[in-house]
Amino acid sequence: MPSMMTQPLTISSLVRHAGQYHGQTQIVSVETDGSTTRTNWSEVEHNALRLASALGRLGCETSDRCATIAWNNRRHLEIYFGVAGGGYVCHTINPRLFPEQLIYIMNHAGDKVLFLDSTFVPAVAALRPQLKTIEHYVLMGGRDEEAAAQIEGLLFYDELLAAEPGDFEWPELDEMLPSSLCYTSGTTGNPKGVQYLHRTTVLHTLGANQPDGLALSAKDIMLPVVPMFHANAWGIPYITAAVGSSLVLPGPNLDGHSLVRLIDEEKVTMSAGVPTIWMGLLQALEETGSKAESLTRSMVGGSALPSSMIPEFRDKYGVELIHGWGMTETSPLGSLNQLLAKHHSLGPEEQAKLREGQGRPPFGVELRLVDEDGNRLAEDGQTQGNLQIRGHWIVDTYFGAETTALTGDGWFDTGDVATIDADGYMIIRDRSKDIIKSGGEWISTVELEDIAISHPDVANAAAIAARHRKWDERPVIIAVPQAGKEPDKQSILQHFEGRIAKWQIPDDVIFVSELPIGGTGKILKHKLRTEYGDVLWDAG
Ligand code: AMP
Repeated sequence: MPSMMTQPLTISSLVRHAGQYHGQTQIVSVETDGSTTRTNWSEVEHNALRLASALGRLGCETSDRCATIAWNNRRHLEIYFGVAGGGYVCHTINPRLFPEQLIYIMNHAGDKVLFLDSTFVPAVAALRPQLKTIEHYVLMGGRDEEAAAQIEGLLFYDELLAAEPGDFEWPELDEMLPSSLCYTSGTTGNPKGVQYLHRTTVLHTLGANQPDGLALSAKDIMLPVVPMFHANAWGIPYITAAVGSSLVLPGPNLDGHSLVRLIDEEKVTMSAGVPTIWMGLLQALEETGSKAESLTRSMVGGSALPSSMIPEFRDKYGVELIHGWGMTETSPLGSLNQLLAKHHSLGPEEQAKLREGQGRPPFGVELRLVDEDGNRLAEDGQTQGNLQIRGHWIVDTYFGAETTALTGDGWFDTGDVATIDADGYMIIRDRSKDIIKSGGEWISTVELEDIAISHPDVANAAAIAARHRKWDERPVIIAVPQAGKEPDKQSILQHFEGRIAKWQIPDDVIFVSELPIGGTGKILKHKLRTEYGDVLWDAG
């Protein structure tokens, strides 16, 4: 007999805990029609149970995929837990993908049920003839005749739940069963599916929320701006259930003004999202005069956090920005930036400098750097190499693939180029596809962008490699001016002087009114390269 109890690490155990020990803790949800609903963890668990039961009645079998095309709202939260808790797989889909990608993803996943917010009824109706496996379309709301007229046989979430007697109990599941599925927002080739397991998700929940990790607690009111279709909303639904935080789900409007209103009205203490969201928030804070009094910290990841944003949030609003790194393939948390005890004697400037990078891995994952031949590289804070990761919540084989995605010795190659220092602090220098190679020397686009964005007249910027007759590639900055400002090229190029080696200073600056942003808030560099990659060619 085993000397200790063992229990499967399942997603239902997370929401059961929230329902039992944090039942009255509030969940605020901005609905798709703009109204606000207030519910709590007890209600979320109750509805998740009824949903799990309803899916069984609809004919779902263990590990069937149930997809969502939805905003961050309470029904989406219930679906996260009800689908996985029932033994099915919650497949979150990014609605901003192109129609061909949406069709590919749903057919490839073999989705049986599709839950959709009313926003997406026309788009789904148009795609429907090409969706081969979906048997049930469920509108996330009450009866809606207009939607029913567009999608034949449409079911209604609220009616499905209302028909359940409410005596369903969570089934005992094997922790190795799949629980959710998310496709990468790949910019080339078909998107690839990462299928998470109950066990990997629960371990990620525990690992990511250490005191030096996200550190969410029952005292927090958490606003996840990161979409629930982007890498499990960085694990926030699961983590908040495990610790009983209050949640504020922002619905479809993620502009700065809507977020400022939510933060102030709901007294949000913590948030999480990509840097472009925080740029919008900063501007809205300026415009409204709000001091975001309740907000203490925010996790920023998905792309590099511009270093100039850290002091701005800290000094004007008392908000600590916590920089983290991860991928769909890594559940997603791979590293997070907090200081060590020995850093407390450093001055504020040195501390701030240390916190600019992507940070250190939590217990549960390991990072390493290798060269093109897979040889391990020095972790000296200087040597750049391909970043690889392994651990308890990292992909092994993509959904439906026949071979593992791992190296021969069991690591996952992230496609990122990074440095790691002796304390394990990692800094992303580039995506291997984006890095600029000038005369055989690497130039980090992340570093160039950070400098460009710190120019007072620049709102956002991307650095790309432009083809060059002599140097192969040279850097060019594509910049969006701050509203009402008209910076000239020279002043931006001068801003690089003294901040970077002379030969790394970009050759040109092109001003645009906006940058192409993909579905998860990242700048689409390949589009910029297609458009501006030849601007230096004729110049010689
Ligand atoms: P996704 O799977 O869409 O989340 O994309 C993962 C990729 O986003 C990573 O491989 C990185 O290239 C990039 N990324 C994520 N977080 C950061 C960060 N904090 N700094 C720089 N790049 C990041």
